[in-house]
Amino acid sequence: MNKKIALVTGGSRGLGKSTALHLAQKGVDVILTYHSRKEEAEAVVAEIEGRGARGVALQLDAGDCSRFAAFAAQIQTLLHDRWQRKNFDYLVNNAGIGLNAPIGEITEAQFDQLMNIHFKGVLFMTQALLPLMADGGRIVNVSSGLTRFSLPGMAAYAAMKGAIEVLTRYLAKELGPRGILANVVAPGAIETDFGGGRVRDNAEVNAQIAAQTALGRVGLPEDIGGVISALLAEENRWITGQRIEASGGMFL
Ligand code: NDP
Repeated sequence: MNKKIALVTGGSRGLGKSTALHLAQKGVDVILTYHSRKEEAEAVVAEIEGRGARGVALQLDAGDCSRFAAFAAQIQTLLHDRWQRKNFDYLVNNAGIGLNAPIGEITEAQFDQLMNIHFKGVLFMTQALLPLMADGGRIVNVSSGLTRFSLPGMAAYAAMKGAIEVLTRYLAKELGPRGILANVVAPGAIETDFGGGRVRDNAEVNAQIAAQTALGRVGLPEDIGGVISALLAEENRWITGQRIEASGGMFL
């Protein structure tokens, strides 16, 4: 049987990096994308290869739909040249940015940036890559706990994540005939660079979240990489169209 190949957007840091490393640990080869931090992405590739899997890092602006056809062509060539394959198995739509802006202050430009990266980009990236996905493959999209609970300043971001959850159900429905599973993971607050690293670096914020979390601490990237890689694993063949919150029990 062919080795499995995953494509993880935003694999240079945070949750995407952890997902890439968990997959590599299980013997899955990983194509990861980064936006601007090439060195971090190359370092993740080195770690993937240190775990005995193959890794490749490609630059991508996940919010620029005009580039997606060329990106898909690049993936097609890469699959042929490196793997002698026509398709890959797992797609993780993870790349994203944090933007805190109350409804009374958010600008149209900020809204458009969030929309392009978090919703429009995910839909059209998936569309561009679907012809390159193997039947029986798996998609995991990344949402947020903020679709279930509400924190001031996160309205636009959370609403777009909500849209991703609906989109995921429709992906599961439309791709079911191809045997492709689609699920959405909704992480709680995780200690990454996201949103300026506030959850990790602001001790007060960190303690407040920990106090509201059943497991008594803030999440770490490893907490999410394990969940996403488990959903992608071949052992999961009957969970599809589901929102799975991975928040350690935040605001239960
Ligand atoms: P990080 O800031 O740690 O990493 C973001 C990743 O996305 C990096 O790989 C970055 O690339 C990439 N990226 C950023 N902007 C773009 C863009 N325009 N085009 C392509 N790639 C881009 O964030 P997290 O790992 O924390 O977040 C990952 C996902 O998880 C996001 O979708 C986020 O919304 C979601 N999430 C995060 C939570 C948290 O508390 N951290 C909670 C819930 C959901 P580069 O390194 O090159 O900049």
